[in-house]
Amino acid sequence: MEAPIYLDHHATTPLDPRVLEGMLPYLREHFGNTASRNHVFGRTAAAAVEEARERVARAIGARPADIVFTAGATEANALALRGLAGGEAPHLVTTAIEHRSVLDNARRLEREGWALTVLPVDGHGCVDPERLQAALRPQTRLVSVMAANNEIGTLQPLAALGAIVRGSQALFHVDATQALGRVPLDVEVAGIDLLSLSAHKAYGPKGVGALYRRRRPRRVALTPLYEGGGQEDGLRPGTLNVAGIVGMGQACELAVHEMASEAPRLRALRQRLLARLEAALDGLRVNGHPEQRLAGSLHLSVDGIDADALLRGLDEVALSAGAACSSGLVKPSHVLQAIGATGTAPAATLRLCVGRFNTEAEIDRAAARIVQRVQDLRAHARSDRGG
Ligand SMILES: *Cc1c(COP(=O)(O)O)cnc(C)c1O
Repeated sequence: MEAPIYLDHHATTPLDPRVLEGMLPYLREHFGNTASRNHVFGRTAAAAVEEARERVARAIGARPADIVFTAGATEANALALRGLAGGEAPHLVTTAIEHRSVLDNARRLEREGWALTVLPVDGHGCVDPERLQAALRPQTRLVSVMAANNEIGTLQPLAALGAIVRGSQALFHVDATQALGRVPLDVEVAGIDLLSLSAHKAYGPKGVGALYRRRRPRRVALTPLYEGGGQEDGLRPGTLNVAGIVGMGQACELAVHEMASEAPRLRALRQRLLARLEAALDGLRVNGHPEQRLAGSLHLSVDGIDADALLRGLDEVALSAGAACSSGLVKPSHVLQAIGATGTAPAATLRLCVGRFNTEAEIDRAAARIVQRVQDLRAHARSDRGG
């Protein structure tokens, strides 16, 4: 078997070697605790964390003091939702296609007495700004909408949504995990009060992320998820993951510099992959928005195929597959259900996402393997039916 081809960049991305290089000194000689202000080890670590904070802030048009480092976007989302004080009969608005770490915390708030509105999306996975407008109430405390979807790659009209939230009393939270390094992000342009990021979806290390929390002109008041120390403005107690934070800063720096050249390259690779699959296979449908989407992301429904069977014979290509059929044992994801991309006839979905280190040769080989596997399964199904 040749080396496997990684096309699952929505799940995680490889660590960029330049990021690793930047991290290594903080795993070796610069091992200090940032809280040790009285000696050079601590001060070196603290200086590195502050530089990383500047880099993360720059990637989203924020100020360094607005950045709270966390253990990832799951924690950042939890802090954004559950760290907010409710007030009188608080109301939360979110969407049907959010990541579990938003939806599960939203349900938790609902159990604790918040009113919850889950906005539907259209067939492309877009939130309609007019629906958001109509959902707002005087008690709406928070509107939480993701920037880019981790399954179908659809981008939301953040500036339009943000303008609506700005006209209300509510705060605007954006889970920008999939957008970091892939599309421009600016908390001022979109009127964002809280924004979640993760390093490992942008060629940084796993286990580190950040929450942007607006401090000006109006400071968003948050309470920490747990107690235990004064780190990160009291919002995230515990010794800082210095090497991870340095890596996140480095990943953000690279993202800012390379996005403009990387996005067209990824778009071309994705088009190449799709063209090869479409040329050889019928019964394919592309899910998500045709233009308002992440450049490298490709989500397909494939008729007449079982997702598990497909994956079993596809060792050389790392992708994510699921069901598009509502009658089988494995149910379609909440995202596919929300966009109505489900049916009763057997169909598999393929989530593919090309990334920074994929080559044209890999795309061609991956396409050939997928085509072969789908054709084999369909031929089997025909012979089982005696056709
Ligand atoms: C991966 C992901 C998360 C969770 O991030 P972790 O850092 O892995 O906890 C949250 N939201 C979206 C949209 C994601 O893709």
